[in-house]
Amino acid sequence: MSDSYDVEVKLLAITPDAERLIESAGRLCWNTQEKTGTVPDRIQSWINIGHESMIEHACATFSIRGSRAMTHELVRHRLASYSQRSQRYVREHEESYVFPPELRAHDDADDIYRRAMRNAWEAYRELLKRGLKPEVARYVLPNACYTDIICTWNFRELRHIIALRVSPRALPEIREVALQLRRIMKEQAPQVFADL
Ligand SMILES: Cc1cc2nc3c(=O)[nH]c(=O)nc-3n(C[C@H](O)[C@H](O)[C@H](O)COP(=O)(O)OP(=O)(O)OC[C@H]3O[C@@H](n4cnc5c(N)ncnc54)[C@H](O)[C@@H]3O)c2cc1C
Repeated sequence: MSDSYDVEVKLLAITPDAERLIESAGRLCWNTQEKTGTVPDRIQSWINIGHESMIEHACATFSIRGSRAMTHELVRHRLASYSQRSQRYVREHEESYVFPPELRAHDDADDIYRRAMRNAWEAYRELLKRGLKPEVARYVLPNACYTDIICTWNFRELRHIIALRVSPRALPEIREVALQLRRIMKEQAPQVFADL
């Protein structure tokens, strides 16, 4: 069994030729666009001095799967566009929930947790059977419930999210998401994400 949170982070779309676009936008400020691509750390040196607005011209879209507890934190990042699977219109037929690896280190904690999940879904199904809408029945579902969300962030916001959420002070599940975002973005745009 894995020691990390079972989250999924998939890159769906990204600005084509993002680093070239960013560099030529930055170079416009000095009218040196003809030098685009000639200095490998040009973008990093702008970032170092806080001249960052040009990295907002590129963005990336991700599909992320994890708990509602985690996505509740993720959507606090406001410079973004989000689309999340609805618990009002979609029935949560499956008992589908995140299992925190920390539970394994404590006697009986996994049993207590699984029992709470079973009870929550039993109550959910009973409420649906009695004719309540999913939007009402869902109030008994836990924070641990799996959800899917599509997130679009520009590169400046992505850098901000990664920097905040890879910290050991962050919630371990969102930290796992941020580590995966960082790995993907270092591959996709090393000139923008190299220092993180
Ligand atoms: C370890 C940790 C613990 C946390 N604990 C709590 C908690 O207990 N309770 C809680 O409510 N939240 C908590 N948060 C959430 C935190 O307060 C932020 O809401 C969240 O991290 C989003 O970050 P942000 O506001 O920097 O950025 P974003 O929304 O991602 O915005 C990016 C940046 O844009 C600027 N910006 C955006 N909107 C505005 C604005 N309206 N005015 C001025 N500048 C703006 C800021 O510079 C901001 O940093 C926690 C976050 C972390 C990382």
